[in-house]
Amino acid sequence: QYRSGSDIRETFLRFFETKGHRRVHSSSLVPANDPTLLFTNAGMNQFKDVFLGVEHRDYNRATTSQKCVRAGGKHNDLENVGFTRRHHTFFEMLGNFSFGDYFKKDAIAYAWELVTSPEWFGIPKDRLYVTIFKGENGVPRDEEAYKLWLETGVPAERIFEMGAKDNFWQMGDTGPCGPCSEIFYDMGIEAAETPGVNKPFGEDDARYVEIWNLVFMQFDRSANGELALLPKPSIDTGAGLERMASVMQGVLSNFETDLFTPLIKRAAELTAEATDDRQKASLRIIADHARAATFLISDGVLPANEGRGYVLRKILRRGIRHGRLLGQDKPFMREMVYAVRDEMAGAYPELNESADRVAKVVEAEERQFARVLEIGARQLDQLLAKSKDTYARLLEAKQAEKNLASMPNEALAELSSWFGRPISEEDWGDIAPQANPSVPGDKAFHLYETFGLPLDFMTDAAHDAGIHFDLDGFEAARAEEQARARASWKGGAKQSASPVYRELAKTDFEGYKTLRVDGAEVL
Ligand code: ATP
Ligand code: MG
Ligand code: MG
Ligand code: MG
Repeated sequence: QYRSGSDIRETFLRFFETKGHRRVHSSSLVPANDPTLLFTNAGMNQFKDVFLGVEHRDYNRATTSQKCVRAGGKHNDLENVGFTRRHHTFFEMLGNFSFGDYFKKDAIAYAWELVTSPEWFGIPKDRLYVTIFKGENGVPRDEEAYKLWLETGVPAERIFEMGAKDNFWQMGDTGPCGPCSEIFYDMGIEAAETPGVNKPFGEDDARYVEIWNLVFMQFDRSANGELALLPKPSIDTGAGLERMASVMQGVLSNFETDLFTPLIKRAAELTAEATDDRQKASLRIIADHARAATFLISDGVLPANEGRGYVLRKILRRGIRHGRLLGQDKPFMREMVYAVRDEMAGAYPELNESADRVAKVVEAEERQFARVLEIGARQLDQLLAKSKDTYARLLEAKQAEKNLASMPNEALAELSSWFGRPISEEDWGDIAPQANPSVPGDKAFHLYETFGLPLDFMTDAAHDAGIHFDLDGFEAARAEEQARARASWKGGAKQSASPVYRELAKTDFEGYKTLRVDGAEVL
């Protein structure tokens, strides 16, 4: 039956309280003691040291609703947002944790009771599937979980085996790790067939939604790769609140739940009513990014050109740009901050304190970005339109069954100068109605160079316009320019950014220089 998002959050926490868990407030999105982590991205983050046994608390069972951001870093869902029904940059992860107390048997029983019992969530069992770890990389199949799910009443044909990629969790290369079980909900055939959401990412994610992940921390991996059984195995689970809400509110998308509809409505008031799918995606993106930006700034992150602040800037600017796509070029995101506060301060009272400050930061970023964009975006739009137009003309010529040789010289010369090289038979062969038009990389680089338009801004804009961005060509042009700059300047660092952009960048917070995640530089 229908349950509001707040009700689901509260019910989850209360359920685990009745099972002896301590309700712990969400930790900050900026991880307190973990420089390897860009943003808090799971409920277990704040308990990492407890799981490692280096920190002790006066409880050994906890339950939380954790603020999470998955943008930048290892888990990056940023590009998915707006185009899948169930990925957000910011989302709330509901979880229960056992620190060496109960293990698999209780974790499975609790999850199943909460999800299916009519007293709690009452989700119909015939809509549910579960997965277990099938055994891989020298780790045996999770026989125990399989038996426990069977005993719980899940029929064998609803239990699926998955490999390590999906169903084996590890904290790092060494340390606690173990198999997982995930609970999926079947949205029904309607979900697979309802248009309106692009699915450019391959997997058919439209029908079966992963709602809850149960991690069984069972082993300790040593430096030589060997697994030892943990003397006190632990439990870490995570359920996406927004997904749970879509299930319980009978809607196909997280964005149609009450956690999002007021924000989307507000976004439409501040920009424009959406009339087509692209515009609807823009409203979803604005709503999502407003949540992420509000919570990130509230937790102390500021827009910057590096580190966490860069990811925040990217999120904010992406939101602002979608407002522009809807015709709004005045600051509007600052108002979204208050909409987020109104919806979320009940669960996260810190927003009451921070909203005014957050709105100021957001507005400053909107004004700054407007200056960059005013000049650059117009050029970019023209470039994208010209790319489309050029491609359409090529296509037309080809469909008129002219061959390359029979194209008028003048047209050939014009097109060749557009592509920056003579059009070859191969180029000609590639032209097809289903192929995407492409923006020449050197032309995009020229905009980057002259106006300081961020690269991701351009690739994003191209992606959203259904135009291929020639990243190789862009990089080649960039490398060429850098070589040129080195040769003629000697010692003049970073001269490739435009004066406008350098001026703007000066005012930025510079807290982080570089940030490494999993050994790789993220930013
Ligand atoms: P998916 O495979 O759908 O990307 P995941 O396996 O990466 O999800 P987990 O790391 O297992 O996700 O996180 C636990 C739960 O958090 C998931 O079962 C899901 O309900 C939720 N979740 C994960 N990523 C997102 C996201 N980007 N937006 C909203 N909810 C999410
Ligand atoms: Mg994921
Ligand atoms: Mg998954
Ligand atoms: Mg998962």
